[in-house]
Amino acid sequence: RPRARGGIDTHRWAVLPVHKSSSDHSRALRPISASGRRQTPQHKHCLTATSIRRRRMAATDRVAVIGAGPIGLYAAFRLVKAGHRVVIWEKGSIGANVEQWGHVTLFSAMALNLPDDCRKALETGLEGAPPRCVPSEDAFLTGHEFRRDVLLPLASYLEATGRCTIQEHCSVVGLARGHLLKKEGIGAVGDSRRETLPFRALLRRNDDEAWEEAMAVVDCSGTYAPETAQRSGSGGLSAPGEAKAEALGLVSRVIPSPGSFKGKRVAVLGGGFSAITTIRKLADENVETVWLVRKAKSEAPYQRVEGDPLPQRDALAAYGNGLASLGTSGSLECVRGARIQRIDVVRNALKLTLTDSTIVEVDHLVSLTGYRPNADLYRELHVHQCYASDGPMKLAATLLAAAAGGGGGDCLKQAAPGAATLRNPEPRFYILGMKSYGRNSSFLMRVGYEQCSLLVDELAGCATLDPFKAPPGAPDPPCDDAAAGVGVAVA
Ligand SMILES: Cc1cc2nc3c(=O)[nH]c(=O)nc-3n(C[C@H](O)[C@H](O)[C@H](O)COP(=O)(O)OP(=O)(O)OC[C@H]3O[C@@H](n4cnc5c(N)ncnc54)[C@H](O)[C@@H]3O)c2cc1C
Repeated sequence: RPRARGGIDTHRWAVLPVHKSSSDHSRALRPISASGRRQTPQHKHCLTATSIRRRRMAATDRVAVIGAGPIGLYAAFRLVKAGHRVVIWEKGSIGANVEQWGHVTLFSAMALNLPDDCRKALETGLEGAPPRCVPSEDAFLTGHEFRRDVLLPLASYLEATGRCTIQEHCSVVGLARGHLLKKEGIGAVGDSRRETLPFRALLRRNDDEAWEEAMAVVDCSGTYAPETAQRSGSGGLSAPGEAKAEALGLVSRVIPSPGSFKGKRVAVLGGGFSAITTIRKLADENVETVWLVRKAKSEAPYQRVEGDPLPQRDALAAYGNGLASLGTSGSLECVRGARIQRIDVVRNALKLTLTDSTIVEVDHLVSLTGYRPNADLYRELHVHQCYASDGPMKLAATLLAAAAGGGGGDCLKQAAPGAATLRNPEPRFYILGMKSYGRNSSFLMRVGYEQCSLLVDELAGCATLDPFKAPPGAPDPPCDDAAAGVGVAVA
């Protein structure tokens, strides 16, 4: 039975029955421990008033980070260093998105991919996370190496601090502000209830669901996923027939792994760096490829940055422009001004009809037209999104202004533009990393790391989240056991 206590909603968590059979039902009712492991019935009986009290403290003074990518992990690192207790909820495994393009070499060197304080911490180590030899600052790693040599050691380091729990295979489905409906607690009209209530997150692990709480939420869930990829049709809509072709496995939306298309004819749609990376890999494998580029013949697909400080990126841009100007070379044909109007499946292959009636016949379409943020996560929170980029409005406006001023094309010239741009109308909810840029693809990790520093400053001024309130091992504050018991609700 939930009840309000000291201005904070004590309806801590509930484990929802999601199975139909009676045995499954009882399993679904078992609580999930702080480490994310499902508890046995014995554990269940061990939920004494003291452990319930601890659970409540953990929920109300901790910061939740969504996503264990580079930015989520570094955000946790900075928060832990500032004395906060942190839980990371990760849909897959640590660095899951980076691993998806693990065979691709990053175009930024390690000096830009790992902040100094983090490098020093990894090199020094901790009990439970031994000192590491971190790749040198001038190294260019593949995504796979970056995950193995940086992200996984960083995750071990975080857990060894005792102040951070990482829950893998734990997907955040949605967030709410305690019991409040979206139309309630509107700060702009003087209703400040959202300031004091913890967040409630609906988490999914396999087919089980549970609610958990946190006093601040940092969404670092990125955008790189087939579900959030932009569609292939002209104007960004799905082309008629696209969904059917995708269901048959004939359309994919991430950079393919090596050897995926041996002996096949493939169309690659897109004019970004993911597309040209794919084109180059397919050319290396001698795969017959049709590159569909939206820009007309008169325009180079890639805008090159004068004196580009990222030479690998510039080399890729030059390679793409060169190939596009040739039209046909080796196993590659480039179609300019290409917009897909319709996709038909014919004898388990694809017939792509372009808006100028050109027909392209291939075995598979790799659609790399960009990604958009998943706004479902914060549908019940107060977030002001940019109508053009789908990113949080304040940051999007700053990026647009920078682009209009000529600095927007080069992601190295962009800095995280100040703590105020990270704020949302929803108090203590932040969107960082790749996701903070919405559909804008010019994000670099370096900017995300700066955002994390700003976040720590921002939370330092937050009275409801005193980082040093509950150091590990400190005795529980006086608490009425009976009252603690009613804080637990099982739906
Ligand atoms: C091919 C390629 C090359 C790139 N090269 C560079 C480069 O050289 N330099 C550079 O700076 N950047 C590069 N980038 C951009 C790079 O991906 C980002 O800079 C970086 O990965 C962003 O980190 P992130 O933590 O914001 O997001 P991500 O790395 O995307 O991590 C997001 C994490 O959130 C998890 N997640 C998603 N949804 C949920 C959910 N609902 N619940 C829980 N967890 C969730 C995901 O599983 C993932 O682990 C490249 C990108 C690509 C695709």
